[in-house]
Amino acid sequence: MIKIAKLISGSKISAQIKDEVQAEIAQMKKEKNKVPGLAVILVGENPASKVYVANKEKGCNQVGIHSETIHMEDTVSTEEILAEIDKLNNRDDIHGILVQLPLPKQVDSGKVLMAIKPEKDVDGFHPVNMGKLVAQQDCLVPATPSGIVEMLKRENITLKGKNVTMVGHSEIVGKPCTLLFLNEWATVTICHIETKDLKMHTQNADIIVVATGVPYLIKEDMVKQGAVVIDVGINRITKEDASPELLEWRKQDFEKKGATLIGDVDFQKVEPKVSHISPVPGGVGPMTIAMLLKNTLKAAKTAAE
Ligand code: NDP
Repeated sequence: MIKIAKLISGSKISAQIKDEVQAEIAQMKKEKNKVPGLAVILVGENPASKVYVANKEKGCNQVGIHSETIHMEDTVSTEEILAEIDKLNNRDDIHGILVQLPLPKQVDSGKVLMAIKPEKDVDGFHPVNMGKLVAQQDCLVPATPSGIVEMLKRENITLKGKNVTMVGHSEIVGKPCTLLFLNEWATVTICHIETKDLKMHTQNADIIVVATGVPYLIKEDMVKQGAVVIDVGINRITKEDASPELLEWRKQDFEKKGATLIGDVDFQKVEPKVSHISPVPGGVGPMTIAMLLKNTLKAAKTAAE
C-alpha cells in the first residue's frame, strides 16, 4: 500500500490565524477606536510583485487592517523612496511599512530597508530586528520563517532536539529560519550553493525546509522515511517546460493558465515517503501573508502601549 503523507495546509492554518487577528482588531477598534495600518511601497510593473501586493491588500481587508499602496515608477531614485518612507515613518495611523522587493537596479535596497523605523518594519528585514532575533529579544520576525515555525507548531511537530536541514541561506528565508529553529532547540544544518553533498545533509534530517527557487531539487532518495518536508519554493512552470507527469498532474492549470506553480521538492515522488509535507501552492505562501498581518497588529499594539 502506498503511504500518503499528511499535507500541512497553509491555507487552513492561515485562515485560523487570520480569524484570530481579525478578532483582536475588532476588540482594539471597540476599546481604543483604532485599527492597524499597513503601507506598501510598490515600484514598477513586475507582475509577480503586483500579485503579491494585491494579495497583501486582500488579506488586510479580510481582517480589518487599513491598507495603502504607494505605487512608484520604475525610474524612481533611492532618495524619492526614502522621502516616501520618511512620511510614513511619521504617520500615527500607519504602523507597518513594507517595500515590495525586488527594487530596480538604480535603487539602493539596503539603504531603503534601513530607512524604515524598526518598530514599523513588519517584514522584519531591518538589521535592528535581525539583531534582536539573534539575541532572542522581542522583535518583528520575517513573515515566511515565522509562518513555517507556526505551521509546524500547529501540526504538533516538535522542533526540540530534532535535526533540521535548511536548504537556502537567504536573508529573507534561510537565515532567519535557522535562528528560529535554533531558538526552539533544534540542531540545524544550513546548506547553500557551495554545499558539497546536499543529499548527505537532507537524508539525515528529521525536518527539511527548502527555499532555493530550484524546481525538483529535493528528490525521493534525498529524504529519510517519515521525515517532515516544508517546501518554500515558488516556481512557475509553463506548458512548454513541463514534464509529461506534471502536464498530467496539473492538467487543469495548464489548460486554464498555460502554466502551474510548483515548489523545490519533487512532490509526487517524495510525498509517499514522508510523514508530513507542505504543498505548493497552498503551503507556506498563505502563511506568509497571515504572519505579515499578525506583525502589523503587533506593531499597532506596541505603538498603542
Ligand atoms: P534567494 O535566491 O535569495 O536564495 C536562494 C537560496 O538557495 C540561496 O541561499 C542559494 O545559495 C540557495 N541555493 C540555490 N541553489 C541551490 C542548490 N542547488 N543547492 C543548495 N542551495 C541552493 O531566494 P529566497 O530565499 O528569496 O527564495 C527562495 C524561494 O522561496 C523562491 O522560489 C521564492 O520564490 C520562494 N519564496 C516563497 C515565499 C513564500 O511565501 N512561499 C516567500 C519568500 C520566498 P547561494 O546564495 O549560495 O547561491
